[in-house]
Amino acid sequence: MAEGERWRASFTVPGAVAGYYQVLVNAYTHGPDGGPWLFDESHYSVWMYVSGTDGQLTRLFEDSIFPEGMRPAPGPLMADSAPYFAADTTGSTPWHEDSVYIEVVYYISQSQGLQPAVGTEVFAKYSNFGRSTWATVGESGIVAFRCPQEGRVMWIGGKVPQTFYVQGEKKVMPRVALNDSFCGQRIYAHVSKYLYLSWRNLDTSAEAITWHFWHSRPRIDWKVDFSKKSETYYSRNSDEITLGWRLTGRSRFLWVAAHEYGHALHHKALGGGWNAPNRDPHNNDKASSYKCALKEGFANYAGTIGSVTEDDPDGYYGKCYEHLGTPDAPSWPPWCRNITHYRKAEIEAWVAALFMDLIDDTEEDGDYTEYDAFYVARVFKTCQVKRSRRILPDKWHDRKNVSDIVWCLENRINPVVHRQVFRGIDSPIGVREKADEPDDWNHHHIRWTWLKNLKFGGAGL
Ligand SMILES: [Zn+2]
Repeated sequence: MAEGERWRASFTVPGAVAGYYQVLVNAYTHGPDGGPWLFDESHYSVWMYVSGTDGQLTRLFEDSIFPEGMRPAPGPLMADSAPYFAADTTGSTPWHEDSVYIEVVYYISQSQGLQPAVGTEVFAKYSNFGRSTWATVGESGIVAFRCPQEGRVMWIGGKVPQTFYVQGEKKVMPRVALNDSFCGQRIYAHVSKYLYLSWRNLDTSAEAITWHFWHSRPRIDWKVDFSKKSETYYSRNSDEITLGWRLTGRSRFLWVAAHEYGHALHHKALGGGWNAPNRDPHNNDKASSYKCALKEGFANYAGTIGSVTEDDPDGYYGKCYEHLGTPDAPSWPPWCRNITHYRKAEIEAWVAALFMDLIDDTEEDGDYTEYDAFYVARVFKTCQVKRSRRILPDKWHDRKNVSDIVWCLENRINPVVHRQVFRGIDSPIGVREKADEPDDWNHHHIRWTWLKNLKFGGAGL
């Protein structure tokens, strides 16, 4: 297609029984690999009225088109006296002539349809000098504003607010002008799903992670990478999370936001991050390095905590980590069942599973620990090791390797066990940390739990 050319396509909507239906269209396009890169996405919705002999499209829900005696409700036509069988949020609400109703929504997929952009702050402004009136979008998605006077316009626009955890004040909704012809009407205002869902997923997961570990950090700044690369990462330099736009709408998005927030919490509230070799790219199921495995394994566990929802009470990879590498691991993703048992201590998924077993209350073979996440976070934060007798006097170093953290948890070191599990790095000669051990603290239990997750073949030695 050449520059400036227009592409059109028409689709036939399959026949439906007489009624009133909402039709959603979502279209996106991109340029050839290597550019020029186009980024364009649009979505549109119309209402489609189907009668026995005819049809009609309207942009908005229009109850005036229903014939006498028919209930003005979405779906198949129903006699006015018929009993309700579906919750009706569109047809039955009386829209008042004095107000304009703005339904603030985002669109991801046909199956999910338009979803209310809960939490978005919407303003209405009636003159250049006047003050804006603000309203926050609730579960219904609909905010109401006073109508503009005859012959005048009102401006509306919206942003996501600043929360305790996440920077806000980002515009997610373009400014549009409405005149008095919109009085008594409900109109759709689409927010950018990329910005809105990034903000919401960060906020949701940050809250859950903060309360789980009982450690908090300053409000996190964030942006969306709209480039072709669509990269996702936490930057220690700018203390900012970048989320790739391609993640939006994927079921893993909340887990990814939570994972990055895990890095951000680690860096600002849990003793600071570090550079790890073999980090780019790194994979849940591939051996990288002891340093990378600890850093990413912690973030993966945070991702699981931060992605717990009503529909997914274990968090996105929760079941996978709980049954990692066993035949009863969930069949998705396949690596979860088939993950290698070699070099476990250098594989981030095994380290995530270790954090989970230290904290969760699931009883299974080799996992007798259920410590408070606050205690485990304190050890992770304050653990220090003395590495070598060769450089004397050696000073204390902040933990960076998976092996450091297990000896800090145990408060002792066993060089023989170290050599069997952590090949390639010397056993530390001293460990210390500042956490208060819980009442049920038991170094044998800790040993079994970490051997189960990090040693080839499990806990037995
Ligand atoms: Zn990471």
